[in-house]
Amino acid sequence: MKFSQTFIPTLREVPADAVIASHRLMFRSGMLRKLANGLFAYLPLGLLSFRKVEQIIREEMNAIGSLEIKPSVVVPAELWKESGRWDAYGDALLRVKNRLGADFVVSPTAEEAFTSLVRDELSSYKQLPLSLYQINTKYRDEIRPRYGVMRGREFVMKDAYSFHASEASLDEHYQAMGRAYRRIFKRCGLSVIPVQADSGAMGGSGSEEFMVESEIGDNTLLFCKNCDYAANVEKAGCKPDFSPRPELARSATAGTPPLSKISTPGVKTIDELCAFLKTGADSFIKTLVYRAVNVELDLKAAPGCSGLKKERPAPGAPEVYPETFFAVAIRGDLDVNETKLAATLKASEVALAADSDVERLTGSPVGFAGPVGLGQIPVLIDHTVTAMTDAVTGALEADLHYQHAAYGRDFEGWLIADIRTVKAGDRCPLCGGELYEKKGNELGHIFKLGLKYSKPMKLSYLDEAGKSHTPVMGCYGIGVDRVLASIIEEHHDDNGIIWPMTIAPCQVIVIPVKYEGAVKDAADTLCAELEKEGVEVLLDDRNERPGVKFNDADLMGIPLRAVIGERNLAGDSPRAEIKARGEKESRLVELSRAAGDLAARVKKELEKLNG
Ligand SMILES: [Zn+2]
Repeated sequence: MKFSQTFIPTLREVPADAVIASHRLMFRSGMLRKLANGLFAYLPLGLLSFRKVEQIIREEMNAIGSLEIKPSVVVPAELWKESGRWDAYGDALLRVKNRLGADFVVSPTAEEAFTSLVRDELSSYKQLPLSLYQINTKYRDEIRPRYGVMRGREFVMKDAYSFHASEASLDEHYQAMGRAYRRIFKRCGLSVIPVQADSGAMGGSGSEEFMVESEIGDNTLLFCKNCDYAANVEKAGCKPDFSPRPELARSATAGTPPLSKISTPGVKTIDELCAFLKTGADSFIKTLVYRAVNVELDLKAAPGCSGLKKERPAPGAPEVYPETFFAVAIRGDLDVNETKLAATLKASEVALAADSDVERLTGSPVGFAGPVGLGQIPVLIDHTVTAMTDAVTGALEADLHYQHAAYGRDFEGWLIADIRTVKAGDRCPLCGGELYEKKGNELGHIFKLGLKYSKPMKLSYLDEAGKSHTPVMGCYGIGVDRVLASIIEEHHDDNGIIWPMTIAPCQVIVIPVKYEGAVKDAADTLCAELEKEGVEVLLDDRNERPGVKFNDADLMGIPLRAVIGERNLAGDSPRAEIKARGEKESRLVELSRAAGDLAARVKKELEKLNG
């Protein structure tokens, strides 16, 4: 490949909106250009690397028996209505109409399309397990796309979906996917951290995310200083720093004075209350009212819920309570983790209730709710509250709080659960070690879906005895653009990208100091020899100053560089100057041995990453 015959528009200046290294370097090295906010074009150099990431993913998927297919990106809205996501997905879903007025979706993900394809073909247990994948364009109408392709609106994702006759079969494939993902990231030269993630109603070990550490990461991750515990904050648990057993709380209340009311005029927030009572937030019980949508949990015995009726939102879907309210009591210095709360309630969505609902359900103005005497709605008690034997909390009346409230003596809850947001300094749930936080970006996610799509979309197969069953599913995604950008984040310096050999757009750049005469001949010969050795080579044949060529080679991050100049060609043994992108010093190699030398280094690097 000759530089003059390809299209690599390198830039000296940095695009104004590029705040992270990968965004800056993809533009400056001529890999990428912007078409509109969140929409990009990969130019030839960028596409070469992009295809290499795709190919690594493809090879690892094929190796575990997943089969590649290529469905359309635009899919009929009916499928999304069947799964319930036409309404549930929100504004990030790009909905389009065709000329006949029919609704379509520009796929942000493809559970519906794959489930529908399999539904039409599946009849017998003999067809299972089945694992299908695509490497295809996705579109999410993000409100604020930024950081280049790290968070674009249109992107390419590898998404796989698997179908199984048993949980054991699903688990086997899920584990194989986890191993394949680890190999993919290793081959891409990425240091990826697998973390436990929220698995919604599935629970257990049904969801793992693959993260890279990143200052701009949109995930908070918790790690243990002692053991290898790692979890997304959405999922992270912690060791109790309190006694969760009510009988212990009761005996501990022996010395607590009786519950009494104190006047707290105009004091509403925890900070105001702490200042007013001169206490810490951890001696206060914060009580929040949540509205939950599509709750699967049985509420027959819950306070204030006897009149509620379960409904089935779609045929085949589980019966749920469409709308319910809950009070959540938690220690005042902690935050409620809404993902954990939703998982506890088996709800599709939870959010803080409107002020009017809070006032109606607690009979008091916002800011004065508390678990003592709250009988209108079910009260969820976070574990931490069960250890509180002398607490301050709202008295369900304006300008009044209770003091000396004790769990087990003055109030109990309908359900005790772990719903706090774990933070740095909390104790590891496995070993009790101290937890610390890092920011991360998600590159991949593997997930056991169970019956989430197969049931409402009515997938079925017949077992050996001719009995009909619904298969369980898994889904497994990797963002290709994000992987590529993350590789640059991990492998660059002030001068540009430093590609791992597996992802580099080409493996060697040959730079003739001046592309003419004997230098031109030597460069052409070296390129021809390298190509014969199977090495991907870029020849910088431009009529530019050597400094410009060297800077561009560094910017583009080509792993190996061979410079041919007049000076080193003179004499009995003509030489080329060889240097790896990450190295400071170059070394002289006899021209006749240069191709073999470079090819051996390429091979060694590839083996190191692919091995
Ligand atoms: Zn630990």
